[in-house]
Amino acid sequence: MREASYYTRESTGAVTCSLCPHHCKIAPGARGICRVRENREGMLVSMVYGQPAAAHVDPIEKKPLFHFLPGSTAFSVSTVGCNLSCPFCQNHTLSAAEPAGQGISAISVPAEDIVRQAESSGCRSLCFTYSEPTIFFEYMIEMARLAKERGLKTNMVSNGYIEKEPLEELAVCMDAANIDLKAFQEKTYRKILGGRLEPVLETIKRMKELGIWCEVTTLVVPEMNDSEEELSAIAGFLAECGPEIPWHVSRFHPCYKWTHLPPTPLEKLRLAMECAKRAGLKYVYAGNVPGDFSESTCCPGCGKVVIERFGFSVRKISLEQDGTCSSCGTAVDGVFGD
Ligand code: SF4
Repeated sequence: MREASYYTRESTGAVTCSLCPHHCKIAPGARGICRVRENREGMLVSMVYGQPAAAHVDPIEKKPLFHFLPGSTAFSVSTVGCNLSCPFCQNHTLSAAEPAGQGISAISVPAEDIVRQAESSGCRSLCFTYSEPTIFFEYMIEMARLAKERGLKTNMVSNGYIEKEPLEELAVCMDAANIDLKAFQEKTYRKILGGRLEPVLETIKRMKELGIWCEVTTLVVPEMNDSEEELSAIAGFLAECGPEIPWHVSRFHPCYKWTHLPPTPLEKLRLAMECAKRAGLKYVYAGNVPGDFSESTCCPGCGKVVIERFGFSVRKISLEQDGTCSSCGTAVDGVFGD
């Protein structure tokens, strides 16, 4: 447990958290929407500081990050908690779980130990993922700073629901991110996901400006965001931010509270890829479809496959050390070396 960053106290004993755009006003003894930040006698505390709920060595492709140290492994860490409430969350056992003290035993692991484990497991990066890393901000930033000092790279998989000031603080020690852009309609964010669209768009723009390598994932969910109009709007927005942003369009499978919908038809993923091409995006990938040709990276110059993938494994890389295509010398966007 640790005092939280980014909050103000009020004379009534309540506090207002400004870590994410919810700006929860929290009465003494109560918690914010993420359920892991609690008002203890006028002090806001993070209940998940030092309490990882999951830690695994994953291929970086699983995040997915396709243009960031391809073929490497990432030491992946998470606590419980999330500031959105997606009814199809694939990690709901973590995101919807309660922090220690409510039936879950507390495991206290210093940031230093996590970084040591990442080093000893041969990973090239430390990744904050599975649930929403913003809600374990204090723990994440301490691990990220230590990782950078030890020569590891850092990355996060996030819903992008974070305020500008903490994002700027984080940018100093964060190399890459995959941001979920779950829909392009305000009503979907408000009614289904439990947030707002605009702050997520702002995060993507701001990350680009702050020099964080950014990839974006959209889970294409039947009836929620799979119209040509909406997919085109997402692709157009990303192309405006930067045509080099890789866009991962992933296949939905029934999960958590949404088991009434079918898996995404493959033609909807093809449609999303068409929209990406029309918008001018240089890299688009179909996710959750192992064996599909569209999970490999093609050179934007000559069109040859430069990173050949099958699922989460990289079979062949035809790039020079500086990230240029071995066939034609065109620069492929991303972070490929130290
Ligand atoms: S981080 Fe949690 S407590 Fe803070 S504003 Fe967001 S949801 Fe509320």
